[in-house]
Amino acid sequence: MKTHSPGLVSRRQALRILGLAGGASLAAPAFLRAADAVGASAKPAAPSLAGEQAGYYRFKIGAFEAAALFDGGFTPPPDQSPFGVDEKAGSVAASLDAALLPTDRVQLPFNVLLVRAGSELVLIDAGAGGAMGPAGGKMSAALATLGVKPEQITGVILTHAHGDHCGGLVDAEKRAVFPNARLFVGRKEHDFWMASSPDLSGMAVPPEAREGFVLTAQTAIGAYKGRVHQVGGGDRILDGFELLETPGHTPGHLAVVIASGADQLLHFADVVHHHAISFAHPGWRFAYDADPALAVDTRRKVLDRAAADRLRLFGTHMPFPSLGRARKAGDAYEFVPEPFMIG
Ligand SMILES: [Zn+2]
Repeated sequence: MKTHSPGLVSRRQALRILGLAGGASLAAPAFLRAADAVGASAKPAAPSLAGEQAGYYRFKIGAFEAAALFDGGFTPPPDQSPFGVDEKAGSVAASLDAALLPTDRVQLPFNVLLVRAGSELVLIDAGAGGAMGPAGGKMSAALATLGVKPEQITGVILTHAHGDHCGGLVDAEKRAVFPNARLFVGRKEHDFWMASSPDLSGMAVPPEAREGFVLTAQTAIGAYKGRVHQVGGGDRILDGFELLETPGHTPGHLAVVIASGADQLLHFADVVHHHAISFAHPGWRFAYDADPALAVDTRRKVLDRAAADRLRLFGTHMPFPSLGRARKAGDAYEFVPEPFMIG
């Protein structure tokens, strides 16, 4: 047998990986025997790679600088996940399996978008903060790594007032995290949550859990009293951001189109929740949708337009860094992730 540079796999080993060499088996890959490995040594273990992920990904939207910020996420078992309410048991796991994903947990990340547009430094949503326990709240570390201080944020556009989007607006003492930011909230969203008793009967969650949704929303929005700007569909704000009414998930849910020169990006927030399940089954009911039928209608409209126009997309719960495009696939859709861009 020939000698090799350390780390390289021999042709024979490669053939075994592919199952083409005589006697090789994928179930028992002989090439993995440590004693035979090229470059194997008896030295102490190398430093661990464990720890936090980097947490941000920088990109451009025309002349605007942007960054996806990783805030965390939760991973419920498929049959306890918010997906596929009303579908038969095992449907969510089957959808994950069809997408070649692990079937024991649904991965539901929280991603926040930061945009620098001229003099404005704008967050679209604020992550979960402490609202989801240890599952969320990592966005502040990602911001710090980027060198951005909370007081430099000039605006926060809140797509809707669920805890994984608005929890990060306040700290543990319920004070505003961003002291100089204006908070832009959909007029309908504001009226809905700030009412004395919002109607959450359309959500497939126990009544006692609904109180938490209301308290979180009222606390987050209330902390910005005096600098809350109520906005609506078609409004253009902060020179480069246009708002789209996308109701259903919540009554005043907003999507945001960010445009600079010929480039644009559509942040669809929670119109779609999972890159495989929701794209393959856009008609499935999602437990946290306030008006499930309207949410499905909005999802299809947004994805139809995104697919037809090849829109560049950002979605809160898409796989980090949350960028991609939508493609029609029969009566459903596919999410096509954007590759890591150089420069
Ligand atoms: Zn969400």
